[in-house]
Amino acid sequence: MQVSIACTEQNLRSRSSEDRLCGPRPGPGGGNGGPTGGGHGNPPGGGGSGPKARTALVPRPPAPAGALRESTGRSTGMKYRNLGKSGLRVSCLGLGTWVTFGSQISDETAEDVLTVAYENGVNLFDTAEVYAAGKAERTLGNILKSKGWRRSSYVITTKIFWGGQAETERGLSRKHIIEGLRGSLERLQLGYVDIVFANRSDPNSPMEEIVRAMTYVINQGLALYWGTSRWGAAEIMEAYSMARQFNLIPPVCEQAEHHLFQREKVEMLIPELYHKIGVGSVTWSPLACGLITSKYDGRVPDTCRPTIKGYQWLKDKVQSEDGKKQQAKIMDLLPIAHQLGCTVAQLAIAWCLRNEGVSSVLLGVSSAEQLMEHLGALQVLSQLTPQTVMEIDGLLGNKTHSKK
Ligand code: NAP
Repeated sequence: MQVSIACTEQNLRSRSSEDRLCGPRPGPGGGNGGPTGGGHGNPPGGGGSGPKARTALVPRPPAPAGALRESTGRSTGMKYRNLGKSGLRVSCLGLGTWVTFGSQISDETAEDVLTVAYENGVNLFDTAEVYAAGKAERTLGNILKSKGWRRSSYVITTKIFWGGQAETERGLSRKHIIEGLRGSLERLQLGYVDIVFANRSDPNSPMEEIVRAMTYVINQGLALYWGTSRWGAAEIMEAYSMARQFNLIPPVCEQAEHHLFQREKVEMLIPELYHKIGVGSVTWSPLACGLITSKYDGRVPDTCRPTIKGYQWLKDKVQSEDGKKQQAKIMDLLPIAHQLGCTVAQLAIAWCLRNEGVSSVLLGVSSAEQLMEHLGALQVLSQLTPQTVMEIDGLLGNKTHSKK
């Protein structure tokens, strides 16, 4: 199993660990899910307020695998996919707030970044109670409030696990799930989040208690869906079975690390979970914390994530033998990127988007310019032929293979 940079909130070091949703593109008026007003044929969240909204509540059988369609925002070109096999439509590129919001970047830059994202069709914004000790949620909440965008036009996800220093302020006990989420909502100044994630598995909390607490927060209207983050496939299956056994609500997706150097979970486990129980994935750190760009050419620039206080582990990683080998592989990818007329970062993000069961790739950016660059990955996606993917796999030498 490939182990790469550990990009976790707790600075944990290395750890082991086409849904292509691609039916035909809808014609005009069908499925422009862009959050920025105008032409909302099929708004994100499945509200269906546009002219083509469903009019009758006729019960329908569950959609068969492969029937979930990717749609394209008319004015933005953003692609929308279902979150796992739920009805929630999320932009295939989401924006994360880890490291950046409430800490590395100013509130003005955070507002610029969020505005560029929203105006370009991004409707999924991810945060966590632990990010910048709650400041990321506060900054995100302040911006959302000042912007006045319709609540129904975007999706907010937060993650619960590390809330505070006291023993009762962390983990996935019923107490911390409920209190932690209430704290997040207060900082976000929102009545509910769309998805609450269990930010890691918790061996100290019984699975039944976790699933019941998640069901409770959903039934109370504090969250609309729940998901897991950095859970193993067996744990996700257990949560699902528990939910089915006790008529509770199962998780809809798993947040998983996925990039050129961290492949196994998203490529081997998620597709199976997706087909069997409808759990999709929202993936994170597509650039391995910024490593998959051409800026680390043997040295660490003065202003970048590895130079931030508390991220020495990332600097060590960049300068390690393993890190240098990864840098060499990134340089090997440059000719492919040049051939496609894109940057390595765009190529890497497009590559993440093509995996089955991936609902959205969470981007991290420290400036609006970086975000603009990443949004260009959507164009690269359409150019990624099987031959190019094979070429990339050949250069990386880490393609995952099913044991079956
Ligand atoms: P990433 O894409 O791997 O790294 C983002 C960082 O790379 C940026 O902040 C920036 O840092 C650098 N970068 C980005 N674009 C660049 C470009 N074009 N050129 C040069 N440098 C560039 O993503 P991430 O921030 O690690 O993760 C994305 C999101 O996933 C997070 O915000 C969070 O919401 C989520 N996440 C979830 C978990 C979880 O456990 N569930 C864990 C980690 C992350 P500098 O400019 O400072 O170098």
